[in-house]
Amino acid sequence: MENFITEIIDKDLESAKYSPPVHTRFPPEPNGYLHIGHAKSICLNFGLASQYSGLCNLRFDDTNPSKEELEYVNSIKEDVRWLGFDWQNREFYASDYFDKFYQYAVQLIEKGYAYVCDLTLDEIREYRGTLTLPGKDSPDRNRPIEENLDLFRRMKNGEFKDGSRTLRAKIDMAHPNIVMRDPVLYRIKREHHHRTKDAWCLYPMYDFAHCLSDSIEGITHSICTLEFENNRPLYDWILDTLNLYHPQQIEFARLNISHTILSKRKLLDLVKSKTVSGWDDPRMPTISGLRRRGYTSSSIRSFCSTIGVSKVNSLVDIALLENALRQELNKTAPRRMAVLKPLEVIIENYPQDKIESLDAVNNPEDPSTGSRKITFSRQLYIEQDDFMENPPKNFYRLSIGREVRLRYGYFITCKDIVKDSFGRITSLICTYDLATRGGDSPDNRKVKSTLHWVSSQGSFDATVRLFDHLFIKPSPEEDDDFKINLNPSSLVVLENCKLEDSLKSAVLNERYQFERKGYFILDKGSALDNPVFNLIVSLRDSWAKQQK
Ligand code: ATP
Ligand code: MG
Repeated sequence: MENFITEIIDKDLESAKYSPPVHTRFPPEPNGYLHIGHAKSICLNFGLASQYSGLCNLRFDDTNPSKEELEYVNSIKEDVRWLGFDWQNREFYASDYFDKFYQYAVQLIEKGYAYVCDLTLDEIREYRGTLTLPGKDSPDRNRPIEENLDLFRRMKNGEFKDGSRTLRAKIDMAHPNIVMRDPVLYRIKREHHHRTKDAWCLYPMYDFAHCLSDSIEGITHSICTLEFENNRPLYDWILDTLNLYHPQQIEFARLNISHTILSKRKLLDLVKSKTVSGWDDPRMPTISGLRRRGYTSSSIRSFCSTIGVSKVNSLVDIALLENALRQELNKTAPRRMAVLKPLEVIIENYPQDKIESLDAVNNPEDPSTGSRKITFSRQLYIEQDDFMENPPKNFYRLSIGREVRLRYGYFITCKDIVKDSFGRITSLICTYDLATRGGDSPDNRKVKSTLHWVSSQGSFDATVRLFDHLFIKPSPEEDDDFKINLNPSSLVVLENCKLEDSLKSAVLNERYQFERKGYFILDKGSALDNPVFNLIVSLRDSWAKQQK
């Protein structure tokens, strides 16, 4: 991969600003499950490490105790591994550095670059000023060093109430960059931490902990998203003031995808409100959701390499992600026949008790996969929408008097229809032409369409779940209440679908193309006596058509 980041790294290696190995890190905050945006960051960080024969750490940025949970840590490890990346023995936790952070804060105080401030968080905000107005000094800004050291130690020892005091860097309250106006480095917060338990009531802020963690781990290039561009001067200030080893922070544009949201807070809201079935709901843009949906890790990696990295925020069409998967599955997925909304077909000139086995190609894209047997009999099923009683001009599929091909089967002609007392069509009466066995006509007779089908003798019932985009609007977050943009048909459950018998031996993780329908996978929660198949992705981008 070549991009503006590799250019920077190349230059840094050439000028010996950093000596090999190139060392990156992926620093998730364990407060939610990873999503496709994180995948971009993972592919980038681990990808750079591998490209430069370097190293990439997995570091849990667990400095914010109230939200962090073990469940998230475990899911993050599972997802990174599943994506195909290995952090070897470099699994780190910012919380393991709490003692070091504290020592560094003491050093800043000793050097006269940090002070204990008694303003409340609201007051600090008021004093901060605006983009056009400078801030105001805190009354505590010139507290003597000894007093600061004493108060800071007592903050750590739990002598003060939550939120009553903070430790702030002493930089410049008139700095043009608001981030640099004496930022808070530590706050008092009595929260149980999932690793350090109740050892601390004093927790470092992200900006303080992050640069120090990078430095402690010897990271060479610390890659983060654009929102942190304004924080880079503080990253640099802290490390320079403490005279510590100094990684290079580089910012890139975060991934945004159409018809979805990638904010952990909002994803958590969907889970908590039971709008979705969980973090791994197949409609979720989480790695675990995509995995359950049937995405392969290789298609996600390929998507991430297609979109590349840039310095400009943009919205990537979700179709690009879906296409990466289609391209792969087209080559690898065995073809099967499944009728999702069955309509009975009776072949009236086919013998009552005859059953025959026909050959069906497994994957035309990969002849090495050979063929399988499918069953033909007098009673069959086709899709309801492959038949029309009063077809418009451009409908080429089955109607009364018309002949079509049943794939790998025979040519059939519809002779009549049977309706129930409500006038609904319950079955089609057809004839078949024996000479067209296998789906080829000896006299080169043309038919306008080829339908998929199954035989009642060679199929079984299953539930099929059709998934669609979770949001109707390309940018659902435009509205304050993003949930008004939820797609009411993002999940459609079809019962009693008819699947060809060979799918009885479908295994988890095997992806199938149901001919003319899309790619499907057995759901991991599926019961043996009632298999559930999930739509991974349709054969074509049906939304593109609608928008034209
Ligand atoms: P959120 O804003 O949803 O809480 P976050 O950025 O705080 O997400 P972290 O767990 O801190 O989530 O992210 C870990 C890493 O993944 C960070 O380096 C972050 O820059 C990167 N990352 C998060 N979201 C995206 C995204 N949409 N595109 C690219 N990288 C991302
Ligand atoms: Mg973050």
